[in-house]
Amino acid sequence: MIPAPRQPGDPTPRTAPFEHPAAPGWSDRQGVLLLRGIATALVHLGEVPNPGTFTLPYPAPVQQALDGVVLTCLLMRAQPPESVPQLVEWCANLPIDNLAFPVPVGLAPPGSFLLDPTTRQPTQICHELALGGIDPTAQQVGRQAMADAAEICRDDDSPDTYLAFRELLVNRPVLTGRELATLPNEGTGLDLLTAPLRALYIPAAASYRAPDTTVYTACGHCRALLHPTVDRGLVCERDACRVLGEVERGREYRPDDNDGGTHQLVRPIRQWVSGPGIMEQGLAARLRKLGAVVQLWPSYGTYGLHVLLPGGQSWAVEVKDWSSATLLAGSARPPIPDPPYDRCFWAVPRVRLQADARYRRSFREHGTGPTSRLELVGIEELVRAARREPTAASDCRSPSGRPLPPEGLF
Ligand SMILES: [Zn+2]
Repeated sequence: MIPAPRQPGDPTPRTAPFEHPAAPGWSDRQGVLLLRGIATALVHLGEVPNPGTFTLPYPAPVQQALDGVVLTCLLMRAQPPESVPQLVEWCANLPIDNLAFPVPVGLAPPGSFLLDPTTRQPTQICHELALGGIDPTAQQVGRQAMADAAEICRDDDSPDTYLAFRELLVNRPVLTGRELATLPNEGTGLDLLTAPLRALYIPAAASYRAPDTTVYTACGHCRALLHPTVDRGLVCERDACRVLGEVERGREYRPDDNDGGTHQLVRPIRQWVSGPGIMEQGLAARLRKLGAVVQLWPSYGTYGLHVLLPGGQSWAVEVKDWSSATLLAGSARPPIPDPPYDRCFWAVPRVRLQADARYRRSFREHGTGPTSRLELVGIEELVRAARREPTAASDCRSPSGRPLPPEGLF
């Protein structure tokens, strides 16, 4: 929970719709930049490991975000938040499309929040927005450790170790200290990756425990730690788990187990690697039942799935679980053809398409790269297309063979 409790005397945040006055010179770009700045500030606050250790002054991105919001509110003739705690309340009580400044239509799903009102934690859309801002620590660590792991495995010519690494990130987002220490001895080759793993798995923050308990509880679906809510419940941070209905409690981690403490993957890896990885594993299983030969995370993670269909056509598929099609489109480009493929897809979970009727349109309108060869589809659509076993192949190979960064991470 973000360490910015309401202070006595703070006014109750506005919840009624805000009518933005005509603001001369206000552009969509200003709205995006300010929203990204706020999201980055909230992610910084969310990374504070223990609310009790939080000290002033606020980190620079947090103070900058507050300053930007106050100035904008004055411009928009709205009551500004007067402190960071008020800004936190603001973001937990007002949906993005009802903040005191306009943001471009389609940037975020209608009614979505920067902070989860029940946990005061940054939402998935908040992390997506922050990804384009000043890199919070966990993002830097996550990117570097993933790149290091791929490079180490490539240098050692150990694709099986890389596969074991990606499976670990998907299947075990939480490890005890003892498990983390003994992983290298389990014959998986993970002893090669001790350094990246120690960077990716960090001690779980105290904010994942309810105030009156020392127990961490994992989600029964995705195995990440559940968050305590303001009404003393537990909830998963993944939208994909929430749509399944009632929270399913999984394994409990107790500090008195003498197991070296509880460690959890950094949030960017949970959101952009573990979560989509669960869906990529499920998609691979469905495609194999249709007779396809599927390779997960080929060539050290070049892309998500290489699918060789019975008819001989090959696909490169990546599951993308992003709230914002606009932000997703900003990084849209076909993966490098290693291994080669005939068609390439970004497959989106149904929940994303249902939450935003403009999803496909926003993706088309905001693609900035050579997206025409990259096809955005729903996961179910992709399975239906595989069942039809297309026979005509459209060339999707990179004409230049120019190396591009590996896809599938952030
Ligand atoms: Zn979950």
